[in-house]
Amino acid sequence: MCPGYFGVDRPTVLQQPHAATVPGSPFVLLEGPGGGLYVGVDQPEAAVLTWVAELEPGYSDSIDCTAPPGPTIGGKQVRIEFSPVHVPYIMPNERRSLPAVRAQFYSGDWQDGSALYRRRRQSWMGSSAPPNWASEPHAWQQVQMNSPEGERRYSFADLPVIAQECAERAVRAIQLVGWNDGGQDQNNPSHDPDPLLGGADGLRTAIAECNQLGVRIILFCKFVWADRATQRFRDQLSPLAVRDPYGDYYVYSGYRYQTITQLLDINTKRLVPMCFSSPGWLKVCREEFAKVLDLGADGMLYDECFHHMPAVACFDAAHGHRYGQPVQAHDVDFVRWLREQSDLVRHDFLYAGEACTDWQLSEYHLSYHRSESTTHVPLMRWLRPDALLMTAVTGFDDRNMVNQCLLYRYIASYEPYNFKGRLTDMPLTVAYGRKMDALRTELREWLWDGEFQGTHGAQVADRGTGLEHKPFSVFTSRHDGSSAVVVANYSHEPRILEVVADGQRNQRYRLVDGDWLEADDGISVPARSAAVVLAQLPRR
Ligand SMILES: [Zn+2]
Repeated sequence: MCPGYFGVDRPTVLQQPHAATVPGSPFVLLEGPGGGLYVGVDQPEAAVLTWVAELEPGYSDSIDCTAPPGPTIGGKQVRIEFSPVHVPYIMPNERRSLPAVRAQFYSGDWQDGSALYRRRRQSWMGSSAPPNWASEPHAWQQVQMNSPEGERRYSFADLPVIAQECAERAVRAIQLVGWNDGGQDQNNPSHDPDPLLGGADGLRTAIAECNQLGVRIILFCKFVWADRATQRFRDQLSPLAVRDPYGDYYVYSGYRYQTITQLLDINTKRLVPMCFSSPGWLKVCREEFAKVLDLGADGMLYDECFHHMPAVACFDAAHGHRYGQPVQAHDVDFVRWLREQSDLVRHDFLYAGEACTDWQLSEYHLSYHRSESTTHVPLMRWLRPDALLMTAVTGFDDRNMVNQCLLYRYIASYEPYNFKGRLTDMPLTVAYGRKMDALRTELREWLWDGEFQGTHGAQVADRGTGLEHKPFSVFTSRHDGSSAVVVANYSHEPRILEVVADGQRNQRYRLVDGDWLEADDGISVPARSAAVVLAQLPRR
């Protein structure tokens, strides 16, 4: 984010407020040719600690934001000034120790730089242990029952039919959205099932029937905000909201759904971030979470668990915390607290979150994100090689998103019509996804159970140009250290590639939708396709 020129003296860059502090951004890399500088927090303490870069003295040409090319301009030194900045709110007569910051040069690429963080974090934080069913290669569907504008596309009684479609296509779980009273992003933090969809009894019965079909139901949850428009907020919840230094609560602008009045932002529900350092708010969350457990759900997906937008710190000492408390202080503890409840009911309850921070993946089992970009950088896969990561697949012949799932061991979340449709709406995508899941099950020694190496350990070149080809990824077997290389061709033209791994030119390959082939004439990858390349045929 670049603040407006009126508010700073020179071009200044810092992260968006929701991701600007620790643990939203626990480290940054200042990359240069062949290496860079790593700067990161060096202990597991949430803090209003942010990273700021300024261009001194400013642009040479402002019309296209050009940095001065030389060491000086107009007699002034040209440089980037980078600062880790603590915002500690130390009160009179108070003493505080601030979390340490590590600065370290590294050689190599972004993987080498972020590996410094990974090693530091592994020394203070572990990884979650997902339920067995979620640890197998599989796929999900996301289905919205209702938005805040009251379409009510399905009833709870429809769920077993939708689950049957999943079961027939090897889709093992449904993320169910908008099942709560009033629909998605309305009446927060209510987790009461919508009576017009069938109520609690209807949803409980439907979940049990879906389970009979072998399909898990994961309920979309949201605890971060309260819906400002509700009487409950006005009468009861307002004192538990995050307060700014002036004593007012923050307001998030909300999300616009479906109707022209919301698309024009006339009646959008405004959302108020709530204080997780307030025991009163935790009590509300526990009561709401008990409703989810009572429905027999197989897990929850906590939407927007990664932020508290637009709040960064809470200044309401009546909550029982310090002045300027970081709003992310309990983002990891929260799952531990909920697990005290779920363990009383079942031990295989799945904790999933949206775009979890790295620290949250020490407790959350699965993180769901959107990564529909040909230049997507698989940072979280690299930071958490074994975590369950899931991405949205929305296209009707979405081969490249399926290819991306293979590249980075992402679970596919099928979402026809932007998670309003049915699997039968996107037969091409689902068929290709099934082949991808079959391939990585066949080669799970590398592609599912192996260790993700990013692009380290292999060279991939376009035979036609001799230039490096991307994207590709390397997985190594935990049995013998051998490599499998996944190469994807996102383009609309065929490519012939040369792959070298484990010190030798690779011998055999298989496309997601093909048979094993010899690589004597290179790896032939059609448009919008992906292949796995091995030195030898798999043992099985
Ligand atoms: Zn507070």
